Amino acid sequence: MPVPLKIAPATQSKFAKLGIHTPFDLVLHLPLRYEDETQITRISDLVPGTSAQVEGEIIHSEVMYRPRRSLVCQLQDDSGILYLRFLNFYPSQQKQLAIGKQIRALGESRMGFFGMEMVHPKCRVAGESVPLKQALTPVYPTTAGLPQATLTKHIHAALNELALDDTLPEPIKKRLQLPDFAASVRLLHQPPPDTDEDALLERAHPAWMRIKFDELLAQQLSMRVHYRERSQRIAPKLAAHNKLTDALLKDLPFALTGAQKKVWHEISHDLARPHPMQRLLQGDVGSGKTVVAALAALQAIENGYQVAFMAPTEILAEQHYLKLRDWLTPLGMAPVWLSGSLKKKDKTAAAERIAQGDMLAIGTHALFQTSVEFNKLGLVIVDEQHKFGVQQRLALRGKGSEPHQLMMSATPIPRTLAMSYYADLDVSVIDELPPGRTPIVTKLVSDARREEVFERVRVACLEGRQAYWVCPLIGESEALQLQTALETHATLTQIFPELRIGLAHGKLSSAEKAETMAAFKAGELQLLVATTVIEVGVDVPNASLMVIDHAERMGLAQLHQLRGRVGRGAAESMCVLLFQQPLSELARARLKIIYENTDGFEIAQQDLRLRGPGELLGARQSGVPMLRFADLGEDDKLLDKARDIADEMLRDFPEAAQAHLQRWMANEPDYLRT
Ligand code: ADP
Ligand code: MG
Repeated sequence: MPVPLKIAPATQSKFAKLGIHTPFDLVLHLPLRYEDETQITRISDLVPGTSAQVEGEIIHSEVMYRPRRSLVCQLQDDSGILYLRFLNFYPSQQKQLAIGKQIRALGESRMGFFGMEMVHPKCRVAGESVPLKQALTPVYPTTAGLPQATLTKHIHAALNELALDDTLPEPIKKRLQLPDFAASVRLLHQPPPDTDEDALLERAHPAWMRIKFDELLAQQLSMRVHYRERSQRIAPKLAAHNKLTDALLKDLPFALTGAQKKVWHEISHDLARPHPMQRLLQGDVGSGKTVVAALAALQAIENGYQVAFMAPTEILAEQHYLKLRDWLTPLGMAPVWLSGSLKKKDKTAAAERIAQGDMLAIGTHALFQTSVEFNKLGLVIVDEQHKFGVQQRLALRGKGSEPHQLMMSATPIPRTLAMSYYADLDVSVIDELPPGRTPIVTKLVSDARREEVFERVRVACLEGRQAYWVCPLIGESEALQLQTALETHATLTQIFPELRIGLAHGKLSSAEKAETMAAFKAGELQLLVATTVIEVGVDVPNASLMVIDHAERMGLAQLHQLRGRVGRGAAESMCVLLFQQPLSELARARLKIIYENTDGFEIAQQDLRLRGPGELLGARQSGVPMLRFADLGEDDKLLDKARDIADEMLRDFPEAAQAHLQRWMANEPDYLRT
């Protein structure tokens, strides 16, 4: 039970803003940086651009009005004169800095107009009677109305009062050469003057290593614990009878790749166990995840259990529906289609079929509205799982006996991210593309050369190939995106009177969308102008040219997904990234990465470095605590160690593991509490 904070209620709400709810939170409220008030630097020794403390007498003080109103003082020691400048100042400061006063000033010095100066230095009265500090002065992240002094006082109290026992068993601490926990937090809050300040700021100091390790260890322990709990829950055993699955394999016009066989084997094995599978199937765009999902569905069905197959967008869900209908009709099955845009009457009819036990339901998240009751649900398949929130994952669990879950993702998850935020799942990876694909050539083209791109589109289409023209999201506005798509469609229709051009965007009704996609797939349309609705999953092998307009506005994962829409057939494919100058630094970095890389995992890893984990996690991040201290881009070695030690501790030191979890996971996210 965490000890409550002994703080006045008004202050408590301010602490809460900083995420501080318990005394231990105070201990982990680590400084942003430090000020060195342990020594005095002579004015003549000041180095511009660095922070230092000087001491001397105010020999001049005046309010100046040019270039703007400011208080300018001269501070003199036996080596020289330093100018102190204040743009905003109180009368009390003016008094404090009156001529003749002995002052200690702390700040960053720089070469100013008059000579060496400090702008807004921290000033205090100096003299023999004021001793120098014994430790570096921490500067904490804070919020309005909560002074550093108050924070510091409470943090020191917590450091003194809490029993900061070590939760790492001695032999492990020795082996990893990590310092004590208590010593580490004390050092970080009150570093002695001789501490390597750079190592502190770069979080490379051994004390920092210890904190980061503990954080990662807690995360790993928590994930392992949840993983174990799941393996004790009950799910239907869906044994492999290989009747329907073999029938599908025989009907397919292709043979599974080695990678598909491998992951299918893993999934089939999981389904046959009496505990809920929670497996993430990762595979780059076009790697052939859908057929693996279909096989999994058939294994559940041949055991008499129902399957729900859910995709994040109507276009994608519909495509799965059509594909599985084609595959399953010869086997004597008709999937149920359920999406939010169905008429009420049709929705009710679909829900009825599901309630009566129809074997396979495909659709959007409408599948999991409360009005839909499955009769005997054995498996849930979720495509592009990162587009769904944790809430939906939880909703799946609430329905009667627990179904198995297969989650699919074409957004590769970098190793460190998978190890930390997805460690409660099992992972299968399809690391091979089906044969016969030709690599995609990527071209970066400035918008100034738009005409040439038009020509390329014309030639490709007249040669019997097909092309996409993707319009970007503008700001966050769907309305604007729609408008751009409409305008682009009108422009292209004018430029290419000889081509049949379609338009797909989020505001079309699902019937219209389906019609357009079907026409494009059948080759009736040669060019498809689309918004990013086609980002996920659309599969038209004859399309071999992709133009992405304003590519500089798109994220890496999105660009990679879009590019993956081509290169699915035998024809040489090309992706043209049209960009508008001037490019921001971030946009330039992104375009360079997408241009130089085709491997989704490599792109994801670089994206992680560029953006940090928050955005990459997508919907999963809601409710997931971000790591505060460790950095998944930098601390991958530490993460490897934490994972190994988590296993070792659960096995050999269960009590220490428990204590560690309790210390770090007091505010554990809801989604793990199941
Ligand atoms: P994704 O993994 O992106 O969802 P899909 O499942 O849509 O990929 O598969 C992409 C295309 O490759 C589809 O047209 C599919 O039928 C085809 N495909 C899947 N597996 C194979 C295979 N082993 N050999 C040839 N083509 C395949
Ligand atoms: Mg897919």
